[in-house]
Amino acid sequence: MKFSKLAQYYEKLEATSGRLELVDILSKLFTESDSAEIGKICYLIQGRVAPFFEPVEIGMAEMTIAQAVGRAFNKDKDSVIKLYRQKGNFGLAAAQLAQQAKSNKQKEKLSVSEVFEEILKIAKFSGEGTVEKKVSNLADLLKKLDPTSVKHVVNIPLGTLRLGIGDPTVLDALSMAKCGDKSLRPVLENAYNKTSDLGYVAEAFFKHGGKGIKEIKLVMGKPVRPALAERLPNADEAVKRLGSEFAAEPKFDGFRVAVHKNGDKVELFSRNLEDTTHAFPDIVNGVLSEVKAKSAIIEGEAIAYNPATQEFLPFQETTKRRRKYKIEEMAQKLPLIMFAFDLLYLNGKDITERPYKERRKLLESIIKKDNKVVKLAEERVLHTANEIKKFFDEAVSAGLEGLMLKKLDSPYVAGGRGFHWIKFKRSQAGELTDTVDCVLLGVYSGRGKRTEFGVGGLLVGVYDKLRDEFVTISRIGTGLTDEEFREVNKIAQHLKLSRKPARVNSKIGPSFWVEPKVVLEVYADEITKSPIHTAGEKDGIGYALRFPRLVKFREADRRPEDATTVSEVEKMYKQQYRKK
Ligand code: ATP
Repeated sequence: MKFSKLAQYYEKLEATSGRLELVDILSKLFTESDSAEIGKICYLIQGRVAPFFEPVEIGMAEMTIAQAVGRAFNKDKDSVIKLYRQKGNFGLAAAQLAQQAKSNKQKEKLSVSEVFEEILKIAKFSGEGTVEKKVSNLADLLKKLDPTSVKHVVNIPLGTLRLGIGDPTVLDALSMAKCGDKSLRPVLENAYNKTSDLGYVAEAFFKHGGKGIKEIKLVMGKPVRPALAERLPNADEAVKRLGSEFAAEPKFDGFRVAVHKNGDKVELFSRNLEDTTHAFPDIVNGVLSEVKAKSAIIEGEAIAYNPATQEFLPFQETTKRRRKYKIEEMAQKLPLIMFAFDLLYLNGKDITERPYKERRKLLESIIKKDNKVVKLAEERVLHTANEIKKFFDEAVSAGLEGLMLKKLDSPYVAGGRGFHWIKFKRSQAGELTDTVDCVLLGVYSGRGKRTEFGVGGLLVGVYDKLRDEFVTISRIGTGLTDEEFREVNKIAQHLKLSRKPARVNSKIGPSFWVEPKVVLEVYADEITKSPIHTAGEKDGIGYALRFPRLVKFREADRRPEDATTVSEVEKMYKQQYRKK
């Protein structure tokens, strides 16, 4: 496919206001693509040239882009910037200059693959003279493109290509493209949950069809979307679900780490599948010296630990390790221990289909009792509600968050919240059994004292997984410190949009909308019904949070689609009155 054709699709996608239309346009685009380019197209429509977990960031600042645009179309940097300020968008400014500079040469020749490779090359420049190389290569590329292509290509290195296309939308469209309906979405989703790589899944799908991707296995270096736990109101309910024998492990309050060990190479991924290898050299070294396997994918929870007093440290301490600077110094000061709780892959084999108890045995065979950094999470096989309560109290008094109960015969279910895992957390003071992870959707401008922060309140939503939409659940005005109000304002300004994003369903309008990207952990007294909000809306009534307070920003470990879902809210609503 010619890139100019893809650019026409970008135009259509950009003008689209509904999710169904997005799927429709994308599926047409996919129908016109072949197996050699479909993977690349899947990355490009999300403004990328690699799956999101690969740290390939083209990351060019506005000034550098202005230089490249100027060089491509014979303008100085300042006049490019001036035009950009007028237009409010770099793509539009660049497209206008491309139009003016249009020579008689045919400029619609480059293929999608050629443009992709060129951008990838620009992304990979490193070392001395990087900026100049990026500028000159981007300028050369822009010169060869038609104005519409220029408009969209420029937004890729800037990170401002905002078509609002989520991964589930792409999966639906892939199924539509090949079989005219969404029937293959579950198989595609399963393949995606195992590899997290849309391009890889799309290419395998185009090459081997639905049957081929059914067989997709875990791939070393591609993060697995994590299995997640369900909530239940009490231990008796849990026993009803789990039967007469089940496993219980402490729920450590740190952060999830997925270790991919392939010989001497170790990669770490966070809960939201970011590559965090460089942030935790102590865990990497621990894995290399302590894990007895040629290759393995291990999941565990990393938590700061005081070896002198043998105390687990609270989450606020552990999270200090998430910073990007002074990594070695922090690793010395605040060493982490990883408590391994699952094994997904061992010595070349995907073992996710095997029952938990077998995986646990294999995990025990590669992690020794006297390990210092990578330790086994304690596991007890329990039978009754009383045993659960006892272990829960023990875990909480040891400074842990609660318990995870696990079905002994269940496979590892990538990317799913299910009753194979049940979590019991130390109860917060109020009625709800858990906090709600909300997505920031819009901002109300500040009045009075808050004028100075720019933000007076937030419109937040949850994720409707069935419709792949963000729906509103609350307006939040409290729980933020002055500093947080300022921070929200900074983030919001960066994500500000001129109109409601395509995948947001709302009955109310904030002062301005933002790209759904930031996840906030919100604590509320109760979930109530409300005619204002669209979360779980039936006959005009949706769910709302009563007395919501911001607990913390979760941007570091959550993507918007990882926010609490409508069906979880529904369950929490039902459960809140059943607690003893
Ligand atoms: P939370 O905010 O409660 O951690 P979550 O949405 O991240 O919730 P859940 O499915 O609710 O995820 O709980 C599982 C999380 O608990 C895992 O992501 C992991 O980080 C953590 N965890 C701690 N100890 C364990 C354990 N023994 N087994 C599995 N997960 C554990």
